[in-house]
Amino acid sequence: MRAQILEKLQPLTQSSQPLRWTDMPEPQPGPGEVLLRVRACGVCHTELDEIEGRLVPAELPVIPGHQVIADVAALGEGASGVAAGDRVGVGWIHHSDGSTLENLSPDFVATGCDAHGGYAQFMTVPAAYVVPVPEVYADAEAAPLLCGGAIGYRALRLTNLIDGQPLGLTGFGGSAHQVLHLARHLYPASPIFVFARDAEVREFALSLGADWSGDTADTPPQPLQAIIDTTPAWRPVVAAMANLAPGGRLVINAIRKETADQEALQDLSYHEHLWLEREIKSVANITHRDIREYLPIAAAAGIRPTVETYPLKEANQALLDLKFRPTRGAKVLMVD
Ligand SMILES: [Zn+2]
Repeated sequence: MRAQILEKLQPLTQSSQPLRWTDMPEPQPGPGEVLLRVRACGVCHTELDEIEGRLVPAELPVIPGHQVIADVAALGEGASGVAAGDRVGVGWIHHSDGSTLENLSPDFVATGCDAHGGYAQFMTVPAAYVVPVPEVYADAEAAPLLCGGAIGYRALRLTNLIDGQPLGLTGFGGSAHQVLHLARHLYPASPIFVFARDAEVREFALSLGADWSGDTADTPPQPLQAIIDTTPAWRPVVAAMANLAPGGRLVINAIRKETADQEALQDLSYHEHLWLEREIKSVANITHRDIREYLPIAAAAGIRPTVETYPLKEANQALLDLKFRPTRGAKVLMVD
C-alpha cells in the first residue's frame, strides 16, 4: 500500500518534505481488530507537534493521522460490532484499557503517534474503537469532527454545566467554534460569553450566536458557572478564574501551555480566584465513548465543518500550509 511516513523529527522551517511517500506492506488485522480502507484523514496541529518533536512518537517510522474516515475492509479473528463495508471513524484514541478513565490510562495508545494512523491506504485498529459515521456527512466533512470537535465535546461535558447556567469560552479557534454551536444545542437556555483578544474574532463569535464578547481581560456582565479555556497562555486563565461564580469550574482544553507569560500566575489570589470552591480542571486525550456520543450529537446540532482537501500524496503541502498559511477551513487528505 502507499503511505506517508514520518522518519525523522525536525522543524518544518528546515524541511519541505517532513514525510516520505512510500510503499509499505498492507497491515493484517490481529485478533479483535479490523482492517480499514482509508477514505479521508484530517490534518491536525498535533501532527506538527510530532514532526517538530514537541510530542515524540513511540517509534519511528510512524504513519501519522488520527481523524480517519474509512470502510471496514476485513475483520480479524473474533472482531465484532462492525461488518465489512461499514463506514467508520477513528480518532486520537487507537485503544486503551476500556475503562471510563481510559483517556488517562498508561495503556493509552494514540493513533498516528504510538500506532500507525490514517495517512495511508490501509490501517488496523481494535473493532471496539471504531465509531459509526452519520450518513449526513461526506467523508471530508466528518474527519475534523473526530479530533477538535470530539475533544471540545469532552471539555463541555467536564464543565458539569446545567442548562440555563452561564458559560464562557476564552480563546475562540476551530474547536471553540464547534463548542459554541454544540453548547447552543445542548444548553439552549445558557447564555454564552466569548473572550478573545482579536476584535474581528469577537465579532465573528457574536455572528455565530454568542450573547456577549469581550477581551480576555474583560469582566462579563455576570459571573460564569463554567469557562472553557483554549488559549496557549496563562494570563487568560487568571482572568477567567476572576470571572467564575462560586462553585464554578474552569476547564483548560490545551495539550501544552506556553511558558512566555507564566509569571501571570503570581497574580493568582486564593481569596479572589479559588475560594468558594472554584476549581481548575484540564482535559486530557479522549475516550471512545466521547467520540461515539459526539458524532450523532454534531449531526443533530447541524455542525458542518468547513474543509479544504488535498490528495494523500500531497500531505507535505497540507502540513506546510497548516503551519505557514493557516485558513479557517480544516485540512483533510483524500485517499484513493
Ligand atoms: Zn488532532
